[in-house]
Amino acid sequence: MTPLGHVWLVGAGPGDPGWVTQAGLEALRRAEVVVYDRLAPAELLSEAPASAQLINAGKEPTRHAMTQDEINACLVEHGRAGRRVVRLKGGDPYVFGRGGEEAIALSEAGVPCTEVPGITSAIAGLAAAGIPITHRGVAVSFAVVTGHEDPTKPEEQANWHRLATAADTLVVLMGVGRLEAIADALIAGGRPADTPAALVQEAATSNQRVVAAPLTAIAAAAREHEVRSPALFVVGEVVRLREQLDPASLGPLAGKRVLVTRSRRQASTLVDALRLEGARPLELPTIEAQRRADPAAVSGAAHKLREGRYAWVAFTSAIAVDAFLDALAEAGADARAFANTRLCAVGAATARTMAARGLIADLVPDEATGEAAAAAMIEAGGIRNEPVLLPRAEGAQPALPAGLEAAGALVESLTLYLSAAPAEPPTEVLAAIRGGAVDAATFTSSSTVKNLAAIFDGDLSPLSDATIACIGPSTAETARGLGLEPDVVATEHSVPGLVAALRGHLWERRAATTTAAAEVEHAS
Ligand code: SAH
Repeated sequence: MTPLGHVWLVGAGPGDPGWVTQAGLEALRRAEVVVYDRLAPAELLSEAPASAQLINAGKEPTRHAMTQDEINACLVEHGRAGRRVVRLKGGDPYVFGRGGEEAIALSEAGVPCTEVPGITSAIAGLAAAGIPITHRGVAVSFAVVTGHEDPTKPEEQANWHRLATAADTLVVLMGVGRLEAIADALIAGGRPADTPAALVQEAATSNQRVVAAPLTAIAAAAREHEVRSPALFVVGEVVRLREQLDPASLGPLAGKRVLVTRSRRQASTLVDALRLEGARPLELPTIEAQRRADPAAVSGAAHKLREGRYAWVAFTSAIAVDAFLDALAEAGADARAFANTRLCAVGAATARTMAARGLIADLVPDEATGEAAAAAMIEAGGIRNEPVLLPRAEGAQPALPAGLEAAGALVESLTLYLSAAPAEPPTEVLAAIRGGAVDAATFTSSSTVKNLAAIFDGDLSPLSDATIACIGPSTAETARGLGLEPDVVATEHSVPGLVAALRGHLWERRAATTTAAAEVEHAS
């Protein structure tokens, strides 16, 4: 018998992938089929299991990839086949999201379903632009309206006239195509022509733009600045509060487009830390670790390690730890092989990855550089004429082996992986870099700088206006060598240290910075 299927109608929230609910995320992580909309943040799709079938129901304003009937039929079909289906929608499913129709269709077809509410763009999209939908003494009521209803039709006109003064804050969704007619109808209905108004395009994404003007001038401003869907149209005195509540003036990272240059897997802690403060990370995976171990070399090293013949093993990256332990496991060895060997971890993240695999570092140099690691190991002793194993990347920096050899160590480098630029960098991110739209760029290792330079044929000048943040001195040195002057060098060489240094720098500079690039103001 077919198992009983289930459909979750999940509100994904607007723009920022962090704004999905815990319940929505749980449903997504267990989904076998995900039917998603254009407005649902694309990053959320990576939360679904790799085996899940992803179906783009991609409603465009002008073109329907799937009609509503087709979407309903698709949900019913997968539900009836006994699958766990997530229907992922932007914002809240019941706010102009046709969630009700889908739930009714499923109910009529006898397929169980659960509606998981989401954060609606009508509220959170405004917040992302510094506009609170209510404010004590300014607005005590709000109305959320669809702009699909044509204000020039006589029967609709009456409704717009009534709405004009019905609530303090009016939020119009799907209204970009009819701004002129809507603004006219609101003014005709008694809303003062000089009421502050704004458009928030692609709220809470790295493309967010805000255009503000009095109600009477908003349509012209939208035309001039080519405001496009999806955008929120908000009318009311609360728009003035942007002066104080613009997220960019409340927090150092808010609204900042921050380039993150690491492989997706490694980038997640950095991306999460940035998002938590409202930054809009642009992920450009520049490092892709390809495992490249020579089995004979690994088994030789494993053998010597088991016999306790290495005085030290020094790990210079988290990837090296994972790659070496995986290779050891394949050679039939486990953590006991390290019993008679001292362990050095270069960098806090490296030490953490070691700990996660059952290895506690004997030495973590204060500074995460090859020179500092060599000096610390030499000081710790047992180096001269002793074999030292360095599991590393192909083409890794020479400072550590050179320093150790100079002190008489017998260094053995074991190549385990290659840090290479990935095949296809995402085009939107490349366009943002080329267009000078990046506010800050973060670099967590020398290879991230080198690989980025390789992607741009050695010319990193499009980043010249961005704040350049490096995890430590060797990364900063590499950046300088490639013509990028670092503005921030973390004193603690870890992802949290890098974020702390960047936010500190931006906060100090906040008086001088403006977010003008993404914003346009219109005087009346
Ligand atoms: N269910 C959604 C709304 C769907 S109707 C919600 O609760 O938010 C689609 C309209 O929502 C768009 O035309 C636009 O007006 C608005 N919208 C949704 N996401 C948006 C975003 N990130 N930025 C600006 N407007 C958005």
